[in-house]
Amino acid sequence: MTKAFQRKCMACNAKKNKYSLIRIVRIKNGEILIDKTGKLDGRGAYICNDIKCLEKVIKTNRIGRILKSNIDKKIYEDIRGVIIDNEEHNQNNK
Ligand SMILES: [Zn+2]
Repeated sequence: MTKAFQRKCMACNAKKNKYSLIRIVRIKNGEILIDKTGKLDGRGAYICNDIKCLEKVIKTNRIGRILKSNIDKKIYEDIRGVIIDNEEHNQNNK
């Protein structure tokens, strides 16, 4: 694994493979999206696939500060949905 694919979680600062992190991106028109493909163009931030990290950034509004944007509650719910989805998926594979 090369370092080029390492990204830092904005909540816990852990460096992980970017494909195991969730990417949040602010695209050109200012919209905030969850970048599931890793290909969206714009200012991006990464977070672990972990509810604890999500709760931390909600409390500190870190996503908003990094992306210089107001984060709608719905974005957090969407991220939560992605994390829960992944957890269920992992459990099914056990
Ligand atoms: Zn984290």
